[in-house]
Amino acid sequence: MHSSPDSPDAKRLDESAILSAVALAKVEALAAADLPACAGCGRCCHLVVELRPGDVVPEELVAVHAGVRCMDQHGDGACVALDPATRLCTIYETRPQTCRDFHRGEPLCRKILGLPLPV
Ligand code: SF4
Ligand code: SF4
Repeated sequence: MHSSPDSPDAKRLDESAILSAVALAKVEALAAADLPACAGCGRCCHLVVELRPGDVVPEELVAVHAGVRCMDQHGDGACVALDPATRLCTIYETRPQTCRDFHRGEPLCRKILGLPLPV
């Protein structure tokens, strides 16, 4: 059975969807509350970042391992594009797709930081 867009049932569905979105936003905010700001953290920039077709980064920042092009790293694992003072990416606008796909608070971020996964 379908209700018209203006029917009370449809309005209740709209309100329910809004409340669900608000609840989800609150859960996400709580999940991120124990995380540091990315600016000044940069811990995930110590992982190996393989370059994908379409990534365009300065060639002097690239290292090849077993035939695979990756972001080069310093001895401590820090990506060579990570500013050691600010811990910010110096090629942010053209950072590799892998970096673009990595999100603050995702399981690997929390693991790197030694934080428990949200339940
Ligand atoms: S994504 Fe996580 S590990 Fe990476 S800089 Fe942000 S808080 Fe730090
Ligand atoms: S390219 Fe930028 S975002 Fe990606 S690992 Fe290196 S410093 Fe971090």
